Amino acid sequence: MKPSQPSGVTGLAEGPRQRPAVELRSCSGDRAILLCPRCGADRLRQETVVIYDRGDGDPETTVVAVADGTATTQVLPSHRTGNPSVHHNGLIIDFECATSDGPVVQLAFAQDDKGRTLLSWRFCGRHRLCRPGSALSLTNYVK
Ligand SMILES: [Zn+2]
Repeated sequence: MKPSQPSGVTGLAEGPRQRPAVELRSCSGDRAILLCPRCGADRLRQETVVIYDRGDGDPETTVVAVADGTATTQVLPSHRTGNPSVHHNGLIIDFECATSDGPVVQLAFAQDDKGRTLLSWRFCGRHRLCRPGSALSLTNYVK
């Protein structure tokens, strides 16, 4: 399936495949459709969600993972959490693409020191946090 050209592209930096970091296609009203960073299709299914709650530079981070109706919470040393933000809050959502074969891709949200929220993709094979079929184990999200 050849995806249509995105009409509204939101990107922060060019990725390794020369695609914008995050691509969206306009939808009805004020909504947009997130496109697969591998193939550009619009069939990304949400899987595990991991929330990283960290105050500015706190030595510990509360990590909450939710999958299949179950939530797991741990307080971990901040340097071991895999938080996409270096000093603040972060969020990761695992996605499986229904169109392209391949392991899970992760959309990472990170707050930077200027108070901005940065979006980026994490790909299996390039990041150790990414584990196909990782349902819930927080050990898949810590270093
Ligand atoms: Zn895909």
